[in-house]
Amino acid sequence: MRKKLAAGNWKMNGLKASLTEIAALAKACPAPNCDILICPPATLLAGMADACSGTPIKVGGQDCHAAASGAHTGDISASMLADAGASAVILGHSERRADHGETSADVAVKVVSVWDAGLTAIICIGETLEDRDAGRTLDVVGEQLSSSVPEGVTAENTVIAYEPVWAIGTGRTATTAQIAEVHDFIRGKLETRFGKVTGNGIRILYGGSVNPKNAVEIFSTSNVDGGLVGGASLRAADFAMIVNAAD
Ligand code: PEP
Repeated sequence: MRKKLAAGNWKMNGLKASLTEIAALAKACPAPNCDILICPPATLLAGMADACSGTPIKVGGQDCHAAASGAHTGDISASMLADAGASAVILGHSERRADHGETSADVAVKVVSVWDAGLTAIICIGETLEDRDAGRTLDVVGEQLSSSVPEGVTAENTVIAYEPVWAIGTGRTATTAQIAEVHDFIRGKLETRFGKVTGNGIRILYGGSVNPKNAVEIFSTSNVDGGLVGGASLRAADFAMIVNAAD
C-alpha cells in the first residue's frame, strides 16, 4: 500500500507573515494518515521548517541547481535546501520548463543532485493542450518520464507528479478518465523499467487545479497517490480539506 502524499507548491508566493498558515494547517490536520509537504519559496524555507517542527508537516524546495556548490550566482543547491530543512525538491515543473527552458536531460541531472543530498525528488511531467489535442499525450508523458528519471530510483527517493500543463492554475481539471489513463500508463512504464516492486512503490501524484471540491474524487482514481497542489495550498483552510481527502 502506498501512503498518500498531499504536497503544496507555493510557487513565488508568500512572505514571512504567511508562515501563520502552517500553525493553522497543523491544527486542522493533527494526526494525518497521509504525508504532508509544503514547498515554499526558498526565502521561507528555514522559517517554515522551524514552524513545522513538532508537526507532521514537512517542507521542500521548488527547484535546485545540479551542482552542490560553486560559482552559480542566484542559484541554490540541493544540499543548501537540505541544510535549510527540506526533505524533498520539486524538479521539472512545467513553469521551469517553460520559463527557464529546462529540458528533461537537465531535470535528470538535478534529480541525482537531490538524491546525493539525501532528499526526495518530485519529478513533474505533463503534456500541453496542443499535445493532448494532437493525440500525443502518452508519447509526450512517456518521453518525459524516460528522460527525466535517471537510474537509481527507489520508492523512497522519487515521486512522479503528472501535471497536464493545461490544467495548472487554470481551474480546468483533467477528468478522472484522463487522469486514470495517464497514471496507469506511468505505473506500467515504471514497473517495466524499474521492476515490479520499485515500480509499484513509487508514488504518482496528480497536479492541476486540485481543490477541496474535487480532491476526494481525484484521490480515489486509479494509481493516484495524492496531489501536487498550487493555488489551493496557499490557504490552510483549503489545503487542510485536501489533506483530509488524501487521508
Ligand atoms: C502546480 O503548480 O503544480 C499546480 C498544480 O498548480 P495549481 O494547483 O494551481 O493548478
